[in-house]
Amino acid sequence: MDGVPHLAPCPFCDGTDVGPIEIDVNAWAVVCRACRTLGPSGPDENLAIALWNTRQ
Ligand SMILES: [Zn+2]
Repeated sequence: MDGVPHLAPCPFCDGTDVGPIEIDVNAWAVVCRACRTLGPSGPDENLAIALWNTRQ
């Protein structure tokens, strides 16, 4: 375990090169670096990850 929370693969390209980025002040979203899909944004990294994971 390296402390990185589980992230679902990208729902569009099935890529696993996904990670949270800060898109604005207090706004985070998970982005797929393969197809540049931006997931739903949340007020922190963990919520952005949770939102990404529920979007299948
Ligand atoms: Zn993708």
